Amino acid sequence: MKTTAINRAPDICDLAPAYIRSIAPYQPGKPITELARELNLDPDSIIKLASNENPLGVSPLAMQAMQAALADIARYPDGNGFELKQALARRYGVDMAQIVLGNGSNDVLELAARAFLTPVLDAVYSQHAFAVYPLVTQAIGAAGIEVPAREFAHDLKAMLAAVTPRTRIIFLANPNNPTGTLIPGAELHAFLRAVPPNIIVVLDEAYNEYIPDALKSDTVAWLAEFPNLIVTRTFSKAYGLAGLRVGYAFAHPDVADLMNRVRQPFNVNSISLAAAAAGLGDHDFVRRSFELNQTGMRSVTAGLTRLGLAFIPSSGNFVSFKVKDAAGVFQRLLKRGVIVRPIAGYGMPDYLRVSIGLESENARFLEALGQSLAA
Ligand SMILES: *Cc1c(COP(=O)(O)O)cnc(C)c1O
Repeated sequence: MKTTAINRAPDICDLAPAYIRSIAPYQPGKPITELARELNLDPDSIIKLASNENPLGVSPLAMQAMQAALADIARYPDGNGFELKQALARRYGVDMAQIVLGNGSNDVLELAARAFLTPVLDAVYSQHAFAVYPLVTQAIGAAGIEVPAREFAHDLKAMLAAVTPRTRIIFLANPNNPTGTLIPGAELHAFLRAVPPNIIVVLDEAYNEYIPDALKSDTVAWLAEFPNLIVTRTFSKAYGLAGLRVGYAFAHPDVADLMNRVRQPFNVNSISLAAAAAGLGDHDFVRRSFELNQTGMRSVTAGLTRLGLAFIPSSGNFVSFKVKDAAGVFQRLLKRGVIVRPIAGYGMPDYLRVSIGLESENARFLEALGQSLAA
């Protein structure tokens, strides 16, 4: 096919606001197919531990539901996501009116920003926190206030002190990605009580299912106490549905209503709705995902220690470790067909993040890492 050369259009780009032009694009994990093309490797020989995906793949119940949903694909999805909302409402004891569904929880995070931020307001988030918070803030033209972390964890006291009269949203990731740090429940609850009620707190719990019960807080129950709280979760991680893009938020019904007004009418497709509703009921799959992660986390962190590498203790399905020449080690791992995630963009140039995989993948990662350290 013949392609037409397109000249740069700087004048056209100048028409976009400066805050849009200065957005640094999100850097996703390297796809397996891309590495296979670049290094001429067999895709089946590559392991990807770069995007905190579920190494068990897809829940069989979700797979069945997807196949059944294909028959109806000529129709628009249920724009209100009735079945999925009903399943979530039953499972978590919330009202369906408290639920916002999204095309991944990224979508839901953006809906919170769109519903509450304007160019004269600001959002507070932590250093080393999930990259999507500055992105959605900047896309509105609002100011982002990044608060220095304390030993890689959110410094809640400092975050509270950073609030200005223009602050409308505080983003918290718990556990945080890429550091894996977890805010203890009591601290989190005290923080919510201290936050002025006219500031929305978005509590991103993408890795909630990986927290052991003993350390988990009933944050959904806190919604009754804090109408300014938005809890977000996802089907991308423990439910193994990252490629489908389904996430959700629980909030006060009035808040959920506002967020629902700014979303696209059909922001979650029908395959995703069906898979998520079925996946939610696959307790066995989520339990196996949790257990595999617990065991894998122990072997990966033990392996890192054997290699003499420091890591940040993680409550997620990934761990970030410190290494000399992180960029070089990343490249050498790629040559061995192992994809991990550089996190220099998160202000951690001396660290790499690895997702916990299958036992065999963890072993192969550790072996390749040992070889890559030596260069
Ligand atoms: C992976 C992740 C998400 C989930 O993103 P989706 O859009 O639901 O796939 C949200 N928050 C954090 C902190 C994450 O790491």
